[in-house]
Parts: sequence; structure tokens; C-alpha cells
Amino acid sequence: MNFIRYSLFIELMIFLTGDVHFKNKRLFTEQKFMAITEVEASNKYIQIVHKYGIKATLFFTGKSFEEEADVIRDILKFKNLEIGGHTYNAYQPEILYRLFRRFTDSANGPEWWQERDIKKTLRAIKNVTGETVVSWRNHAYRYDRYTYNILKKYGIRVVSNNVTTKKRFPEKINDTILSLPINVMPDHEHLYHGEKKYRKGVKESFGKYSQGIFYFIDKWFEIIKGEIESIEKENGCATILAHPSCMEISDEMETFDKLCSFLSQYKTAFVREAIISNEQ
Ligand SMILES: [Zn+2]
Ligand SMILES: [Zn+2]
Repeated sequence: MNFIRYSLFIELMIFLTGDVHFKNKRLFTEQKFMAITEVEASNKYIQIVHKYGIKATLFFTGKSFEEEADVIRDILKFKNLEIGGHTYNAYQPEILYRLFRRFTDSANGPEWWQERDIKKTLRAIKNVTGETVVSWRNHAYRYDRYTYNILKKYGIRVVSNNVTTKKRFPEKINDTILSLPINVMPDHEHLYHGEKKYRKGVKESFGKYSQGIFYFIDKWFEIIKGEIESIEKENGCATILAHPSCMEISDEMETFDKLCSFLSQYKTAFVREAIISNEQ
């Protein structure tokens, strides 16, 4: 991977992002804690984003576009939203992906299978938006040696799968794809919400990315503000991952409203705008 320093970034640039899944309470157990669907939560989310005049990018599973096209059409009225892809159905059925992992060298399935998934996702989105998707995040940040070559073939220009506090700028993955690092503490794996309740003395881990580190939402907000301010000192890019679902479950988007208010003092951009900045 080549390190690209964004010499044209003279000020902090913020990418506010979130991932949106289709309806499935068994698979996405936190949906049990929501009175609305993730797509409906995205509608609420984008209204807050709009209120503060900032921009956001939401990565949708293709299936959610098919299931809730009417709500999606309402969401699309807001021009301060970019739609990205997030796989068709988050690697379902599970049993099949278990077999892929066991008998092939790729976690997301053989090349032809992944190509099918990516094509299906991009088509489902385009059918509703009429626009071509150029930004992508894999569900669970999970990609393998085939993923980026296929994404390149289908016109994806920016991927955002790499969680790291160390990086400040996008990096080139191949001649056309940039990787936008998620360099601010992501919400889902570090927030007490839904089933992830605080229990005294219990240091349960919320998956491999949490490393046993989790907070109540007000503390999380304080932490990410600090992270953004330190990225600001280096005139870098800050990529925030705040899911509509986690924000809704935590406190019905009260903190998300405060976050957007805080972000309104900075320059926010769509994920796809990382390409433009790189080409200038
Ligand atoms: Zn996901
Ligand atoms: Zn969550």
C-alpha cells in the first residue's frame, strides 16, 4: 500500500459514516431494541445531519434497498447524503460462509460468488437511486484477497474497512481505489447499547474489535471529540463511524444530535469526495 499524503488538505476534513442493515432480529440482535427499522433510523439520522448543514455517507445492504424502497425514497430527498454499498445481505446464509471459510482461501466466498454479491448490491441501489455507487464498506469490515479487485471492476473508488487510530490520510489500494481509514473510535463495538449492558465487574468483550473497551455514549462522545481535535492538529481526515441503529438504541439520537452540532464547525465531506481531493 502506498501512503498518499493529501497535500491539498489544509484543514481537517470529516467523513461521517454509518452502516445500514436489512430487517433481521436474529442476525442483528440489536434490532430487538429498536422500535423502528435501521432504514427508518437512517431517515431520522439524515434529518439531524441536514439540520446542522453537514454531510454523511451511509453504506446500505442491497437487501435493505429492496425491502424498504419507500422509506429510502424519503431519505433520498436529502441531498447531504451519499449512498454507499455494504454487501447484499451481510454474508447470509451463515452456513454457506462457514463452509467458504473452511474449504476455500477466502472469507467472503469464491471470486464468482463475491462478484455476484457486489453486482446484486450495486444493482439494488441503482434501481432506487438511479445513481452509480462509488463508495463501499464491507459488512463487519470483512474483505479478502478478491474483494478489492472485484470492487475495482465495478467502479468502486473508495473503500472504508480499515479501523486504525494511527492513520490520518486515505491510502491508495490499487490504481483506482482509495482506502479511507476509520480513525475515530467506532460506536458499535465500543458502546454500551442494546444487549451490551454495563454489568459491574464484568469485562466482557464485544467482539474482536472492541478489545474489551466500551463506554456509555456520553463518554464515547467525549473521546471521539478528543480524537477529532487531535486529527485537526495534523490537518488530517477524520472518519467517524456512527450507525443509525446504535445511535437510536443508545439514547434515541440525543447524543448524535450533539455530535452533528459539534461537527458543524468543521468541513464535512462525502466519502466519494476523497477521490476528488486526491486527483486535484
Ligand atoms: Zn454491517
Ligand atoms: Zn450497535
